[in-house]
Amino acid sequence: MARLHPEIYFFGGNVAEGRSSMRDLLGGKGANLAEMASLKLPVPPGFTISTQVCTYFYQHGSTYPKGLTQGVAKSIARMEKLLGRKFGDRKNPLLVSVRSGARVSMPGMMDTVLNLGLTDETISGLEAVSQNPRFAWDSYRRFCQMYGDVVLKLKPENKTDPDPFEELIDRKKALKGVTQDLDLTVDDLKELVAEFRDLIRRRVGRDIPQDPQKQLWEAIGAVFGSWQNERAIAYRKFNKIPDEWGTAVTVQSMVFGNLGSDCATGVSFTRDPAIGEKGIYGEFLPNAQGEDVVAGIRTPRQISLAAGRKWAERHDISEKERAKLHPTLEEAFPSVYRELLKISARLEKHFRDMQDMEFTIERGRLFMLQTRTGKRTAAAAVKIAVDMVQERLLDKRQALMRVEPVQLEQLLHPQLDPKAKKQVIARGLPASPGAVTGEAVFSADEAVTVAGAGRPVILVRLETSPEDIHGMQVAEGILTARGGMTSHAAVVARGMGKCCVAGCGDLNIDYGSGAVSANGVVIHRGEYLTLDGTTGEVIAGRVATVEATMSPAFAKFMSWADAERRLGVRANADTPHDAKVARDFGAEGIGLCRTEHMFFEAKRIEAVRQMILAENAEQRALALDKIVPMQRGDFVGILKAMAGLPVTIRLLDPPLHEFLPKEEHEIRELAPKIGTTYEHLKKVCESLFEFNPMLGHRGCRLGISYPEIYKAQARAILEAAAELRSQGVEAMPEIMLPLIGDRKEFDTLAAEIREVGRTVLGNNGVRLDYTIGTMIEVPRACIVADQIAASAQFFSFGTNDLTQMTYGLSRDDSAKFLNAYVERGIYKKDPFQELDPDGVAGLMKIAIGLARKANKKLKIGICGEHGGDPASVKLCHRLGLDYVSCSPFRVPVARLAAAQAAIEERQKKREFKDV
Ligand code: ADP
Ligand code: MG
Ligand code: MG
Repeated sequence: MARLHPEIYFFGGNVAEGRSSMRDLLGGKGANLAEMASLKLPVPPGFTISTQVCTYFYQHGSTYPKGLTQGVAKSIARMEKLLGRKFGDRKNPLLVSVRSGARVSMPGMMDTVLNLGLTDETISGLEAVSQNPRFAWDSYRRFCQMYGDVVLKLKPENKTDPDPFEELIDRKKALKGVTQDLDLTVDDLKELVAEFRDLIRRRVGRDIPQDPQKQLWEAIGAVFGSWQNERAIAYRKFNKIPDEWGTAVTVQSMVFGNLGSDCATGVSFTRDPAIGEKGIYGEFLPNAQGEDVVAGIRTPRQISLAAGRKWAERHDISEKERAKLHPTLEEAFPSVYRELLKISARLEKHFRDMQDMEFTIERGRLFMLQTRTGKRTAAAAVKIAVDMVQERLLDKRQALMRVEPVQLEQLLHPQLDPKAKKQVIARGLPASPGAVTGEAVFSADEAVTVAGAGRPVILVRLETSPEDIHGMQVAEGILTARGGMTSHAAVVARGMGKCCVAGCGDLNIDYGSGAVSANGVVIHRGEYLTLDGTTGEVIAGRVATVEATMSPAFAKFMSWADAERRLGVRANADTPHDAKVARDFGAEGIGLCRTEHMFFEAKRIEAVRQMILAENAEQRALALDKIVPMQRGDFVGILKAMAGLPVTIRLLDPPLHEFLPKEEHEIRELAPKIGTTYEHLKKVCESLFEFNPMLGHRGCRLGISYPEIYKAQARAILEAAAELRSQGVEAMPEIMLPLIGDRKEFDTLAAEIREVGRTVLGNNGVRLDYTIGTMIEVPRACIVADQIAASAQFFSFGTNDLTQMTYGLSRDDSAKFLNAYVERGIYKKDPFQELDPDGVAGLMKIAIGLARKANKKLKIGICGEHGGDPASVKLCHRLGLDYVSCSPFRVPVARLAAAQAAIEERQKKREFKDV
């Protein structure tokens, strides 16, 4: 088959010019349609115009490359020949869909037009050929609606307004006294078409073109144009998809699921996307077209009998009623069901991943319209990866690469406390797991406002659409009244790892007054709601949560990750509770225990303040004597929780004024309480004022000017460790000095700590190995790392401060302008979120090189926020660090990222060898 144009890829008649590996050019949809066609699966013929044309379109004032018009005409002619119908023919018209598709699936982001080619002339041909006027007019009605929306941009005027076309349909149904779309008659549909076109003429100022060619080119232009629409841009930004990629356009001949009761349309997964269980899982609607399943217009039916029975049970529907009113595809279309099973197994094996497929049944014949890698919850992702290894579809390393590290955090989040009292007001579909509580809000904008004020929100909508994305991003959870497990809300929430309860039909939502009610309970805007995305329960008020339990698949998966990784993973934890949580998540020690948090507790802060107010060393020692036993208790707890594993404890770091009141009235109230005068306290507060506290009297500088403070802390640590040792508990403290920039700082403080050590351990008569090391967080320390390493036993990169000081960028003030830097493309990422690979990591590389030469035994880790960011963890692997340390919930994330880094390194080496 000769190519018709270099930028057009034809498929159909069991052949295709594209392949699934060409998604950069054809978009995910076009590439996989081509692949399915060459696998000889039933795919309606069509062709894809490549993403390069999109790029050309934007660079050349919305025009097309040479010869594209003729290429499209020839491609249409090829389709006509295969199908025996003609585009624009008044007797037997060929209708097409114009579909968009980017490299990565962007659910609902881009727009598609169905039934294109219908005009006042061709409609009579369709009526005659189908001998089904109702079908013809239903198709025309949908075409006008989609063309009006996508091509002519007729949208609701306000965000809270309903869709103008849906409003006309609702009005028509009310007028005719029917509830279902299917109950509208041919005449009703004809009236609707007229009303739609009236509305378009009024609002847009012109009619839908009556020339099919014009329709086609306007639609193609609109799809390319939609790459730059607001919601597509927002989605790309959130998902870090480059603007340059562009979209492809696929023009495909229509098949019809709305020709009668022997027709249907549906979506299905090869495995359950919520829990990962193997077996076809999905929904369909008889006598319907395109997006009806997703849009939640009618309650969709289940594909398999097993799922149908489960569904009925959840909805308190008897088996008899279910079989009569809600038969599954397995029952209603048994042979199509068997074929779908076969195709689905074939596709999964071919792509070696769980597939999300769209299909249509036209007069009993199955057609495949899309297949792609299915989105899934974290739990499902892990289960599917583990199962596929057992099924020999993947090896362990491939399985480890299949799960996004950040997804794992979802698995660790709390569930509703099973013992807590809860007032369940309704039950919807368990669309995406987790348990969340928040204030009810009813629009995406409202969600952004309330979440911006720091309050958790639950976004409540009849159904969601791409316009709601910004609200979904900030919400804790999403609740919808309509739509199934594959509705927009469900799919997008799963992708975001957010809790979602969908299709909760019992809800009465009133956008106008801002209230949702169910079974007699009303929740107003701002009142609390709780969602359980695992059971689908909607609960009034707040409910207590408990920690998650981990599945056997998760344990197995993580053990594979641990076997792969070279990098150690520790946690940042300041309390015995956090230490225990971290250990349960697989932490191999504590990389950062901050001592100042222990100072803030109500009873202690008084002693701390006394210490700060002390006018000489003796007074200070007196106050410290009160603090030491309390700190010792803390350290006993943490060292015990981490028995047998190292615990890095950082000595006092923040400037002292952080422990004193700021407001005038607070100073007045505090003075008598701590036995001093207002004047004195005020004077001390003023004396501690600093122009630039981040670069001021903090970190080891406190230890240099007040040696008693660090000595007291060292005493507390070592006494705690000695006490535990004497009880046979293996305490392994590592004392860490913050903000070291000069070897002499380190040597001075380390000598004082060793002195304390000799006294404490001598007194207790125990042997205890403890180490002294430093954070590396000022650039100078990186440059003189060899000098410091000669004295220190470990380094821990404090990349929060190191980033701040390398960029000369105050973390506390940068929020105001950092966004502009990211938006304008100057910084690719916020360097406080993802370790800067060039500058900050460049300094780290210098430091590591120098330090390892000077001290072969030096242990090197990282304890900044970056330690839990997958890209940064991978960078740390490549830098040759010994371990990363991150917040407890991030520990599994870091374990997997570390494993992936090791696998990627091995792959690179192999590629290198192959060359
Ligand atoms: P989206 O990216 O929003 O899923 P699609 O291009 O996949 O958009 O199309 C939307 C719906 O229309 C899907 O349900 C799809 O299966 C259906 N559809 C698209 N093209 C055709 C066609 N040629 N015949 C029948 N249905 C189609
Ligand atoms: Mg869509
Ligand atoms: Mg689709």
